Amino acid sequence: MAIVVQKFGGTSLADVEKIKNVARAVVREKELGNDVVVVVSAMGHTTDNLIKLAHDISKNPSSREMDMLMSTGEQISIALLAIAIQEMGYKAVSMTGAQVGIYTEDTHSKARIIDIKTDKIMNHIKDGKIVIVAGFQGITKDGEITTLGRGGSDTSAVAIAAKLQTENLGIERCDIYSDVEGIYTTDPRVVPTARKLKEISYEEMLELARVGANVLHPRSVETAKQFQVPMRLRSSFKLDDLGTLVIGVEKMEIYKPVTGLACDKSQVRVVICDIPDRPGNASKLFSLLAKYELSVDMIIQSYARSSNNTNDIAFTIDKDDLPKFMTLKDEITSIMNPSNIHIDEDIAKISIVGAGMIDRPGIAAQMFETLAKESINIKMISTSEIKISCLVEKMHAKQATEALCKAFELDGKDVALVHGTLPD
Ligand code: ADP
Ligand code: ASP
Ligand code: MG
Repeated sequence: MAIVVQKFGGTSLADVEKIKNVARAVVREKELGNDVVVVVSAMGHTTDNLIKLAHDISKNPSSREMDMLMSTGEQISIALLAIAIQEMGYKAVSMTGAQVGIYTEDTHSKARIIDIKTDKIMNHIKDGKIVIVAGFQGITKDGEITTLGRGGSDTSAVAIAAKLQTENLGIERCDIYSDVEGIYTTDPRVVPTARKLKEISYEEMLELARVGANVLHPRSVETAKQFQVPMRLRSSFKLDDLGTLVIGVEKMEIYKPVTGLACDKSQVRVVICDIPDRPGNASKLFSLLAKYELSVDMIIQSYARSSNNTNDIAFTIDKDDLPKFMTLKDEITSIMNPSNIHIDEDIAKISIVGAGMIDRPGIAAQMFETLAKESINIKMISTSEIKISCLVEKMHAKQATEALCKAFELDGKDVALVHGTLPD
């Protein structure tokens, strides 16, 4: 029998009725003749609530204890879902990441998966059981509990599917069930007229996820791409709808230059002002940030002003990393002697993504022109082969999103035409 991996997010498991609904979706897949491995997140806002509890006690709780705490959310979901499935008369077993053998590197809060053992999962499947695995969590070789980063259950699911596929154990696909009917050109909760995509390439989805479309964890798409796991994003509440397929697309021509747009309000901009323009300064700054595991996204270095031969370096970091950055401020000042370190929290990053923008310089111009027509100032710009990001003031985020959706035809009623695929 083929194995299907199904993943259900917190929004699909928010209360008892929703857990029963998920149980029906799992049983339905089993009834179609497939073996099923289910990966679940914590119920509703459980993870947020756990984090809040810790912060009510301490401003800076240790990451080991945070992982210990946060991993409990998924443990509740696996047990309740197993009980709901057993209640329907089917065999089910719940397993934590440690019980499965989801081995990660030795870092807390953003650990990467190193290996997954499949023997225990397969033994349960051979016994006819539906296997329910706690997402988001793993274990180090020394037995420490780790978590994979917010939204990481998607990655748990795809990694399990990839490992089963690598071992030729008959993986069919990985279905990520959520509270939306598929992947849209942009967040349908922000732009209700956003179009649902029938399919999207791994590359474009990866870029969209990286620039803030939190519908899929970026590392899940990275893993699906690396192991060529067919992956769908579909709705827990509309089981007949196949949602959006994420695949390796190799079409000869691409109709639309822009496939999707994402708006990320979770970054802050840091500007290190007036640092001497000499070799080695950027290296010192970013080595220090790397040493403390601060991921940097956009970076701009200004042109050195001839009068005092200094320049500014501006970059963006995750808002959650700001407290850690603040502890480094004095060290940066003593190394680089800047006139000021300016923090700007009032920013949003708007990105457009599309494989069709390769070698079309007019797309960047059109994006800047659209923002200019709305009198929206661009604070920073960064580009890759298939992405252009602009940093704007947070209060302009919605206006910019709507204007760009119009300019690049990302809204409207029909399923979008991407990669030459005709709508149903
Ligand atoms: P889950 O609990 O299932 O993991 P998430 O909240 O992580 O759900 O992801 C689903 C949400 O992602 C949707 O409710 C939607 O608001 C948001 N989203 C952002 N960008 C997109 C997009 N391009 N297409 C669909 N949903 C998106
Ligand atoms: N429960 C975790 C979170 O809220 C993991 C996940 O939902 O994927 O981030
Ligand atoms: Mg999610």
